[in-house]
Amino acid sequence: MSFHLTEEQVEIRALAREFAEGELRPYAPEWDAQRTVDPEIFLKLGELGFMGMRVPEEFGGLGFDLITYLLVLEELAWGDAGVALGVAIHSGPVTGLLVKHGSTEQKDRYLPRLATGEIVGAFALSEPEAGSDARSLTTSWQQNGDERSLSGRKKWVTNGARSGLIVLFAREGAEGRISAFLLDPDLHTYQVGKREITMGLSASETVELLFDEMPLEDGALLGDEGAGFTYAMEALEVGRLGIAAQATGITRAAYEHARDYAEERVQFGRKLSEFQATRFKLAEMTTRIAGARALTFSAAAALDGKADPESLSAGSLAAMAKLTASEAAVWTADEAVQIFGGYGYMRHYPVERLLRDAKGTEIYEGTNEIMKLVIARESVGASTSVKA
Ligand SMILES: Cc1cc2nc3c(=O)[nH]c(=O)nc-3n(C[C@H](O)[C@H](O)[C@H](O)COP(=O)(O)OP(=O)(O)OC[C@H]3O[C@@H](n4cnc5c(N)ncnc54)[C@H](O)[C@@H]3O)c2cc1C
Repeated sequence: MSFHLTEEQVEIRALAREFAEGELRPYAPEWDAQRTVDPEIFLKLGELGFMGMRVPEEFGGLGFDLITYLLVLEELAWGDAGVALGVAIHSGPVTGLLVKHGSTEQKDRYLPRLATGEIVGAFALSEPEAGSDARSLTTSWQQNGDERSLSGRKKWVTNGARSGLIVLFAREGAEGRISAFLLDPDLHTYQVGKREITMGLSASETVELLFDEMPLEDGALLGDEGAGFTYAMEALEVGRLGIAAQATGITRAAYEHARDYAEERVQFGRKLSEFQATRFKLAEMTTRIAGARALTFSAAAALDGKADPESLSAGSLAAMAKLTASEAAVWTADEAVQIFGGYGYMRHYPVERLLRDAKGTEIYEGTNEIMKLVIARESVGASTSVKA
């Protein structure tokens, strides 16, 4: 399937590329080394509307369709994959769930501020003992008379330390149904745990959140009580496309570095780009980029309701896109290091950072093994042993 981009989409992509070239890529090595990021970065993105890509126009956002949104994410990831991860979580699962299931009051309160980047969204599903098996989460709320309180621990929450709005999943008591809640640091008191030292994606902050009988008012419930797990799975379908686009941005960056280096570096009196071994690697990189994009856009069209009725479901396509794009990113960044040879292994050169960044895309928003479970459920049939 080929996709025709509109003139407007091409212009938006160019704007995102300009931002990535000017505001992200030059600083990415320093952010990686210092484990930091420009504290104004989300506000700068907000000025261009890129924090409100999935916020409807009536709430101050740009209301982009999925393909336009993913085009921008790919560019941001090309500039800095950690910043792109923060934008993807903010826009996909968080904004997406609020738009779909939030009350009018919740939307009025949060969407305009999410759109400007004044507040950044976070998604708290994973726990120390509940990752792939998210349904087994134990963070819970208790009703004591008129009061409701929340206790538990959430792990690896991207944007968690700076977030102004956290979508959190918790069950009722020890074995009750899972619901989704909106947590606001202005209204709720919880502890932000230590920031994780990650392998890559250093511009993105990953933290633990701890809750000890935190009062939870009725207005914090998002959508229907007991529908939380369904919402989480729904949010992850869009979320996985965001990660696919992020992975493709990393792949493109690694490919371009490798291509340019192969044109410069001379060994045995010839440029590396003249050796067939190098040419084949570069050819495979571009093929993987094209393949990942095609799957990502097919899944985006399906999730936007434009599915080919004979194709697989949007959920399977999204899982395929994430699987393909993340594997392309890891493979390409690895081969880019190889093309750079000894220089590639040095921190001074960009490709080893891209390899460390790429690895994350195979893990979060569902590991690639879980992607295969999702795909197999449709293509092979339900498994009796695993309910992922
Ligand atoms: C940088 C980063 C950012 C993150 N951000 C967030 C966030 O913002 N919000 C959030 O909620 N979570 C976040 N996560 C958590 C992430 O979603 C989980 O790490 C992921 O879902 C895997 O869970 P786990 O780490 O507990 O691994 P486990 O579930 O323990 O899995 C370990 C290994 O076993 C495999 N495995 C597990 N079950 C099966 C099975 N049934 N069949 C085959 N293989 C299986 C897995 O694929 C994996 O290889 C983040 C993680 C990272 C690394």
